[in-house]
Amino acid sequence: MSVKYHIICPNCGYEFIVDYSEWNSLSDPEVGIIFRYGSNTFSCKCPQCHKRSGYHVTDSNEVTTETKEDE
Ligand SMILES: [Zn+2]
Repeated sequence: MSVKYHIICPNCGYEFIVDYSEWNSLSDPEVGIIFRYGSNTFSCKCPQCHKRSGYHVTDSNEVTTETKEDE
């Protein structure tokens, strides 16, 4: 079971969605292998600048709906 988190790269500011599971190390072509450090802490690469950064996510980062009509 994985959760999608909306995170922002601290290096370039690019916003992206990462599919994170605290049970499995998922690898994604966009973000590389996701290294797990804890239930809400991991590192992955930014799809934009390819710099690996550590992220600590909270429930507020969780993406629950994808129903944005206008952007
Ligand atoms: Zn970046």
